[in-house]
Amino acid sequence: SEQHVIMDETAIRRALTRIAHEILEKNKGIEDCVLIGIRTRGVYLAKRIAERIEEIEGTPIAWGEIDVTSYRDDRGENKTEPCEEILISPEKLNVHDKKIILFDDVLYTGRTIRAALDALMDCGRPRMIQLAVLADRGHRELPIRPDFIGKNVPTSKHEEITVALSEIDGKDEVTISQR
Ligand code: 5GP
Ligand code: MG
Repeated sequence: SEQHVIMDETAIRRALTRIAHEILEKNKGIEDCVLIGIRTRGVYLAKRIAERIEEIEGTPIAWGEIDVTSYRDDRGENKTEPCEEILISPEKLNVHDKKIILFDDVLYTGRTIRAALDALMDCGRPRMIQLAVLADRGHRELPIRPDFIGKNVPTSKHEEITVALSEIDGKDEVTISQR
């Protein structure tokens, strides 16, 4: 069906640059901050923001990725994986007393974020958890709201957002279409 571009490469680049600055402003720097991307595309967003923050601040920021499929309330009851299999990062990540900034591509009902919060809490006690998303399409079913938003995209439940990121999709583009 027909696809409408709602963010092109330039719009995505500018939104991520803005979010990087907003994260620095809200946290007064990056001390004790850890960026965690939700698989799949949230991971590339977290990595890009980590690169921008390192450019701006001149110091690297810890980042990692999380797979929350086993924590989803609508999928099975298998919550037995150890923390090292849920939270993956280049260097060993400790979430205890850290300010975690979670990344996802699209926020919809909030159930994925609820699952990510559960998974993170099982790995330690973060001081704070913040949420950044590239697109917020509404229709929340839980009391969850993002702290950093690339673009608010009012949608109907029959619409679908497609997020393409160059790392895996060969281009940067956000489109909306009828399902
Ligand atoms: P939620 O759990 O909030 O209902 O849905 C968010 C999760 O599902 C995110 O991880 C996101 O990747 C995916 N998702 C939900 N709706 C959409 C959508 O319209 N487009 C894309 N690309 N992903 C979506
Ligand atoms: Mg997802």
